[in-house]
Amino acid sequence: MSTWQHHNSENASLPDSANEPSSVDSSELLRINRSLSKRIYELHNIFRISLELTSILDRKRLLFTYIVNVIGLLRANRALLLLPDTHDPHWLVPAISRGFGRRKHRDLRIDSRKLHQLVRSQPNTLWPVDSAAVRETLAPVTARLQKMEIQLIAPLTNVGRVVGLVMVGGRVGQEPYHEEDFELLSLINNFFAVVLTNVNLVEELEQLSITDGLTQLYNRRAFDQQLKKEISRGKRYGQPFSVVLLDIDHFKHYNDRHGHPAGDELLRQFATLLQRSVRETDVVARYGGEEFGIILVGVDERGGQAFCRRLQKLITGYPFRHREAQPLGFLSASFGIASFPQDATDAASLLQCADRALYTAKQMGRNTMRTYQQSRRARRHTVNSFNVQVQG
Ligand code: GH3
Ligand code: MG
Ligand code: MG
Repeated sequence: MSTWQHHNSENASLPDSANEPSSVDSSELLRINRSLSKRIYELHNIFRISLELTSILDRKRLLFTYIVNVIGLLRANRALLLLPDTHDPHWLVPAISRGFGRRKHRDLRIDSRKLHQLVRSQPNTLWPVDSAAVRETLAPVTARLQKMEIQLIAPLTNVGRVVGLVMVGGRVGQEPYHEEDFELLSLINNFFAVVLTNVNLVEELEQLSITDGLTQLYNRRAFDQQLKKEISRGKRYGQPFSVVLLDIDHFKHYNDRHGHPAGDELLRQFATLLQRSVRETDVVARYGGEEFGIILVGVDERGGQAFCRRLQKLITGYPFRHREAQPLGFLSASFGIASFPQDATDAASLLQCADRALYTAKQMGRNTMRTYQQSRRARRHTVNSFNVQVQG
């Protein structure tokens, strides 16, 4: 006996009309069956997608997985995801898209503050691009969105905060969207918004762990990591590079005279000056207190010296506050330079060489630079003159 028959025989006492299979239209049953199967398939898909999304912590992979699944789930011909601009988070800008061919939408910008107002008044909503809500909120870009053949717009929110916006084009084969499609998109969006927030937090933590809080430069830990990377690159491709350690002269004097907060401000300005003086591929870090480290990529000892000369001029000529009260009458720094592979081929030794060179520069009276090789010659000279004195 099948389950269906067994079930029916148990209900033998029910009125005839309730038990009669013939009263149910078989084509209707088939239709319901097909629609339920489709729903189960879709929910299974949602389950699979949510599992996939929640297992990702890498931003690039997360965005790719999301956009591909939005397109697959809705059978849409295109989709575009906008996320906060890293330089100005009030604006949402394109992060990933599929299905737009060569058409450009890189300059598309949506004001997230306006979107936020809309989300607050209509939470968990998904808007057709030609709806009054979209027309009013996104007035400057609605014509553009229609040109891009966008049909739906859905905000990505987490705990009431807008974390992104997804735009979806028409359906493959022109079939219209239904209520269930909206539900599916909302479900996957909810998962995605949570995972995206987690990824943002992980990235923020990673960033914090390598950033110096006062100057926003790399900290010593990040500098050491970058130095190790540069050493392996140097060994693989035979490319030279130089490490510069520089230390502000008489900084204690500055603090004592003008107070710690003024000293902090000077460190911030000094850091900005350093960051602006290097190439994009170079690394600048706050190595400790008033000491900074720079990795000059692809630069040998001579190049390192030329760089330090230029930087020294910039520092001594810069209108730092209270510079005139410093012992030299202006602000200055001392520099130690060590180069790979000439002076050392491992990170610790290279840093030791730069530190030795910096120490010699300080001994020479400050506001000057020394390479490691020069510091070795200076030491030999000192030792020799000491021997002469002893012998004499
Ligand atoms: P030198 O020319 O030999 O380098 O002398 P200096 O005075 O610069 O060096 P010293 O090591 O004697 O003093 C460094 C000072 O830097 C002492 C310390 O209080 C100060 N300092 C370290 N970190 C910070 C900081 O984050 N903010 C401020 N304002 N001062 C700091
Ligand atoms: Mg100092
Ligand atoms: Mg110091």
